[in-house]
Amino acid sequence: MNRTVAIIGAGVSGLTCGVVFAEHGYRTAIFAEETGQQTTSGAAAALWFPYDAEPAEKVIPLALQTFRVLVDLTRVPASGVSIIELRQFSRSQETQIPDWAIPLGAEPVIPSSPSVVSSEVETSLESLKSGFSLRVPLMDTTIYLDYLAARFRKTGGEINANVRFQQLEDVDQQFGLVINCAGIGARELVHDVDLEPHRGQVAIVPRIERLSCAIVCDDAPLMYAIPRRNDCVFGGTNDLSSDLAVDAATTERIIAECSHVLNIDKPNVLAERVGLRPFRKSGILLERDELRDGRSVIHNYGHGGSGFTLSWGCAREVVNLATL
Ligand SMILES: Cc1cc2nc3c(=O)[nH]c(=O)nc-3n(C[C@H](O)[C@H](O)[C@H](O)COP(=O)(O)OP(=O)(O)OC[C@H]3O[C@@H](n4cnc5c(N)ncnc54)[C@H](O)[C@@H]3O)c2cc1C
Repeated sequence: MNRTVAIIGAGVSGLTCGVVFAEHGYRTAIFAEETGQQTTSGAAAALWFPYDAEPAEKVIPLALQTFRVLVDLTRVPASGVSIIELRQFSRSQETQIPDWAIPLGAEPVIPSSPSVVSSEVETSLESLKSGFSLRVPLMDTTIYLDYLAARFRKTGGEINANVRFQQLEDVDQQFGLVINCAGIGARELVHDVDLEPHRGQVAIVPRIERLSCAIVCDDAPLMYAIPRRNDCVFGGTNDLSSDLAVDAATTERIIAECSHVLNIDKPNVLAERVGLRPFRKSGILLERDELRDGRSVIHNYGHGGSGFTLSWGCAREVVNLATL
């Protein structure tokens, strides 16, 4: 068996696959046009939560596998992974706790409770109808992507940045196996017309000292406030668009809505980020195929709004597919 692997993509999918392959003894190299904070992964919030990825019967087991790995990583301070209480609300309807969340300890939250956000910060309660709380892993992307890259390199992995492939067959012949983790880039790379860019924009604001849990309202307008170690991510949007330019009016709308729900003064904006969630209409692609030159390729893309949530489950499945 050829144990020399080229991974296309240095977002969370490519880096996690890199770590798993390298730690299984494969000689592994990553090639990517963009790395780190330049990728979609760098724009993510990034909470563990299955969202905007299909189909549920595939997504939920992979998400639960990933959950367990991420919980273990909370014991590694350098990883930037921590556990946070997520409070998910609905403005318009009674929130149903998803079946998969019940064994993880999800509990209903009644918005009229004074401690709905934290003991000190009170939300604009009248706008929230019902919700549930759940303790989930949070990956601080400013730390986590670097942690994955460092762990990969430490095991002998090599990252080649600023490399753009027109087709997978252009990968050097010394690599017997190619892993496609190109995210939304797979639209051009393998002409996948099933991929849709679900554009997301966020604003990074200073830490809100009294906000200790993540608040999400997932009915329109999508709103979330996610406190990280050094700042707080305010979101968000989910539109069918490939536009990577920051829209100032959208930032204004995000800041206004988050400040309204959290019942705080509008904070300063430290940064704005846009990313294209790689949503695949017929579901995440996790399968082995053959290139025109006879080499094997394993596709691992189309994770939509759940790339972090599915990362370890998918990477392990990719290694399993490699050994077939
Ligand atoms: C605002 C926002 C918030 C989000 N929040 C969450 C969240 O809370 N939790 C969660 O789980 N997910 C979240 N997501 C989704 C998550 O970010 C994505 O699912 C994830 O980043 C996809 O990772 P990836 O590695 O597959 O793709 P990417 O991060 O896009 O990486 C793709 C890589 O492939 C490279 N590439 C592409 N084409 C080529 C080519 N032709 N040649 C060479 N290299 C190429 C790119 O340069 C890049 O390195 C969010 C996304 C956004 C935009």
